[in-house]
Amino acid sequence: MTTIAENLQQIHRRMAHACDAAQRPQDSVALLAVSKTFGADAVREAALAGQRAFGENYIQEGVDKIAQLRAMADMPQPVWHCIGPIQSNKTRLVATHFDWVHTVDRLKIAQRLSEQRPAALAPLQVCVQVNVDGGETKSGCSPEEALALAQAITALPQLQLRGVMSIPDPQPTPEAMLAVHQRVAAVFAQIRDSGLPGLDAFDTLSLGMTDDLELAVAAGSTMVRVGSGVFGKRSYPAA
Ligand SMILES: *Cc1c(COP(=O)(O)O)cnc(C)c1O
Repeated sequence: MTTIAENLQQIHRRMAHACDAAQRPQDSVALLAVSKTFGADAVREAALAGQRAFGENYIQEGVDKIAQLRAMADMPQPVWHCIGPIQSNKTRLVATHFDWVHTVDRLKIAQRLSEQRPAALAPLQVCVQVNVDGGETKSGCSPEEALALAQAITALPQLQLRGVMSIPDPQPTPEAMLAVHQRVAAVFAQIRDSGLPGLDAFDTLSLGMTDDLELAVAAGSTMVRVGSGVFGKRSYPAA
């Protein structure tokens, strides 16, 4: 049986190899361990193996897990990233408990997160979620809307704009997958090179999962979000 620590080593080897292949420095890509559906004990095991950043999709599940980990004073505390869709009635929970949010795709959510972020905490670190391949029902703003949303976020006092995130659908070939990742990277570059004020910490392209992390790194990802590759296969509870 493989342990979480062994899985983490394996993912880091894949990331390093992908960086080498793309002629990028090995420290230019960070690992976000996606712990959704796994318990606090699994997060603890990963944290004790050196993993620092964890991603959660379901707000209440994440908040419960954050509280459980906070109660474990004998270990390094994780940095928590919200990577799931956010309804308006969940923004306060997110603003109060998480360090990062990758899934800001409309101004109303950004405004609520800024208003509800407690003043005693560091600004919430946020990415604009873009949808480069999907229909209107998928979350994420369109590539055309991304720059304006980014600009609006830079004006919100309790948010710090960190980058762009996307969850492209799987594609039939690696070439097609790479091309979709490159469209996301182009949105990231457009904002980075826009000359907008407030981009001093804009450094994150959140792209790639267990199955496609190499292609995401080839396209320029700086943060891969890996769930099953770290924790094993998920058995989903009813959605
Ligand atoms: C579940 C999830 C992941 C991780 O997916 P794996 O295929 O298990 O690596 C990454 N990003 C988001 C937004 C997710 O919902």
